[in-house]
Amino acid sequence: MTANRLGYCALAFTLLLLLTCRCALQAQVRPPVKTQIVLLGTGTPLPDPERSGPATAIVVNGTPYLVDFGTGIVRRAAAARNKGVTGLEPTNLKIGFITHLHSDHTLGFPDVLLTPWIMGRKEPLEVYGPAGTRDMAEHILKAYATDVKTRTEGLEHSNKTGYEVNVHEIKPGVVYKGQNVTVKAFSVDHGNLEAYGYRFETPNRTVVISGDTRPAPAILENCQGCDVLIHEVYTEASFALVSDEWKKYRLAYHTSSKRLAEIASKAKPGLLILYHRANPGCDQARTNDCRDAGSEEQLLKEMHQYYKGNVVAGHDLEIY
Ligand SMILES: [Zn+2]
Ligand SMILES: [Zn+2]
Repeated sequence: MTANRLGYCALAFTLLLLLTCRCALQAQVRPPVKTQIVLLGTGTPLPDPERSGPATAIVVNGTPYLVDFGTGIVRRAAAARNKGVTGLEPTNLKIGFITHLHSDHTLGFPDVLLTPWIMGRKEPLEVYGPAGTRDMAEHILKAYATDVKTRTEGLEHSNKTGYEVNVHEIKPGVVYKGQNVTVKAFSVDHGNLEAYGYRFETPNRTVVISGDTRPAPAILENCQGCDVLIHEVYTEASFALVSDEWKKYRLAYHTSSKRLAEIASKAKPGLLILYHRANPGCDQARTNDCRDAGSEEQLLKEMHQYYKGNVVAGHDLEIY
């Protein structure tokens, strides 16, 4: 064998070795499945500048699944992207699940339908929700017909597909199954509204979200040791301050700290995240007593009194 041929052989062998090593290395460093919960809005109908309307993103391997479209949803998604959750790039917002049709949970519907499209999303929005969601979507498109016409036919040259919406009106059961996640809807008890909670099963986490509900057995049945339970709540101290009429409303529509503690003690989530903390109308009453009774401090005090598990009060743009 000549020296030249020997040199080629050595080179080929080295290259082969390098390739083999690289493949092995790639297999080792393949990123693990990642499920992030991003709180986009933890508020209520109250126009609190610190708390956008109810909206949560479950981001699995970079794909976001939205729950509810509260006010400010797309701007909060952009803020989360700026914090490093690249999956929440607004043009990536393509799938959403609505818990019920109260306005605080749907005021961001036109935003999530139109803003990502204006930014370049080409795919229609896929929306899962109760009966009436299709009507709402059709009316939103009618309301914005002038905008859609101008943007698609005028000099903005927007695409003709990304403003469309495919609505799936759901019943309890598995409503979505994809590579990243299986989503199950279950009925909750929110006055006389058709309302759902959702259970997300990803390859590495199970997340249950209540939407709005009075204490509902379905939460217990669907969590059962889930990794994270995200649940709405009001304080007992604020309940004591509201009128008899509003007491009736709260009992029929929402869940107190004490009742949530009972549910969570049985459901045993790895982490309980509190959101949609009801306000006792303090903007109208304007008294410190009222504000204190419904405050986050009071809420956590009550929760710790009744519940021994891991619990946090959620804030906008927190990532779990
Ligand atoms: Zn609500
Ligand atoms: Zn509601």
